[in-house]
Amino acid sequence: MQSFTVIRAIAMGMCFGVRDALDVAAATSKPGEVTIFGELVHNAVVLDGLRSRGFAMAAEHVRGVPASNSVMITAHGVSDRERKRLEAASKTLIDTTCPLVQRVHDAARAFAEEGRHVLVVGRRGHVEVRGIVGDLDGYDVIERTDDVQCWPHKRIGIVSQSTAVERDVRRIVAEVVRQNPHADVRAKDTVCAPTKERQAALERLLDVVDAVVVVGGRNSNNTRRLAARCKERAVQAWHVVDETELDPAWFAHVGTVGLTAGTSTPDATIDRVEQRLREIGGSHGHAA
Ligand code: SF4
Repeated sequence: MQSFTVIRAIAMGMCFGVRDALDVAAATSKPGEVTIFGELVHNAVVLDGLRSRGFAMAAEHVRGVPASNSVMITAHGVSDRERKRLEAASKTLIDTTCPLVQRVHDAARAFAEEGRHVLVVGRRGHVEVRGIVGDLDGYDVIERTDDVQCWPHKRIGIVSQSTAVERDVRRIVAEVVRQNPHADVRAKDTVCAPTKERQAALERLLDVVDAVVVVGGRNSNNTRRLAARCKERAVQAWHVVDETELDPAWFAHVGTVGLTAGTSTPDATIDRVEQRLREIGGSHGHAA
């Protein structure tokens, strides 16, 4: 039997924002009367569980108003305009917007009120970004340094999606300053603390492992970013949704395997992946 050491990242998995939102859903006594507006968590297993309890789900960016009396806003938040639209349709809102997402909205609004052109560093079309820009009259979404240009505005304010990669944000801010020497550029660091902790933990893990198993939903942006970072650091990474996707052949020639997970991955899924790694031949190492 093959043998390798498994090292868990010191910070990984579900963040408090998603956990709190799931707790609110768990405590909802009449789920059949509630529509969840968007994906409460980017995890198919958890979403199936919510559906089977009776929650309806609606894509938050589709026009129209859910039929149910109550609408649950997810940790990713929505714009105030969207909130008002739902309230005008007499919907009762169950708001689970993460306070650290709200912080991004507040920072963007403050920049706009100062008369700044707002740049949002993040993924175009991502639910959180749609919510942030939904209250702005003028803005640009910047995914990468190539999106940076010389804007005519004298004042520019930069915020970022809460799950952006700090290193990328710093690069983009520097590029905005470089290409806009005429402008007063201000940037507010709005990457959330749990995201920073997970990114820092992955960097430490990558210093000591031969390969990494990244656990998370297929459509979880931050899970994919974790796997992409492994590849940037030239470390083999396998992105798995759960333990059934682990292939024992992957571990034939590795001595040390790191384990990390995206912010939408339930603890139980991580534990089952770790258990399966042990069955394949992994032994427990100290967390890095
Ligand atoms: S990733 Fe950060 S901002 Fe988003 S829900 Fe989790 S804690 Fe909140």
